[in-house]
Amino acid sequence: MVLENYRKVRGEVDEVCRKAGRDPEEVLLLPVSKTKPAEMIRELYDAGVRDFGENYVQELRAKHEELPEDIRWHMIGHLQRNKVKYIAPFVYLIHSVDSVELARTIDKEAAKCGRTIPILIEVNAGGEESKFGLTVADAPAFLEEIRELEHIKVRGFMTSAPFVSDPETIRFVFRDLYKLSLDTALKNHNNDLVNILSMGMSNDYHVAVEEGATIVRIGTDIFGARDYSQK
Ligand SMILES: *Cc1c(COP(=O)(O)O)cnc(C)c1O
Repeated sequence: MVLENYRKVRGEVDEVCRKAGRDPEEVLLLPVSKTKPAEMIRELYDAGVRDFGENYVQELRAKHEELPEDIRWHMIGHLQRNKVKYIAPFVYLIHSVDSVELARTIDKEAAKCGRTIPILIEVNAGGEESKFGLTVADAPAFLEEIRELEHIKVRGFMTSAPFVSDPETIRFVFRDLYKLSLDTALKNHNNDLVNILSMGMSNDYHVAVEEGATIVRIGTDIFGARDYSQK
């Protein structure tokens, strides 16, 4: 069932790409497995899927222990500084960096592990008060401020758009983030690759892909609705 859902979403992403004149290979479909059991992940793993997104450090650690070593784990949820050390040894990409202090902590923990951790800057492009992330306007100064950190590598931006019934009304959120990434790439003189745009969830990924997403983070449409009542 999970694999069937994954293939259906993948097919839709490919279709949107074709219509928008984009190469489907530019877009990573990232299954978001938070609150879902390891068996569901394994079903996709056995079909060749290697990238998975998780929101909670403890759950991420437990699944990393339990599941095959070659899974690329993406941390997409809000990250507390005192928990960075638990995921620093293995995390593949952190999508949710929203403060200089957090960037410094990731840099320090990455150094301890002898690695450089790729990160995305989380931008609250929709301007919602309840959401984490920088404003689009603050992003350039933020990038400047963390520039000297040698054990993190900024690879792009992430946003979560407001949940709305008609995703057309939030197209501007994705467009603003795309513009930000273009501006950043233009200003980027040292040739680092800043080309990842993590945007689009079950509710709005069609629009996000039309506007240039390179990672869509899909939970519900692959794994079904989440049940938080057990937590
Ligand atoms: C849970 C979550 C998702 C997936 O959301 P769905 O609507 O279930 O697809 C994507 N991104 C973040 C940051 C999330 O917390």
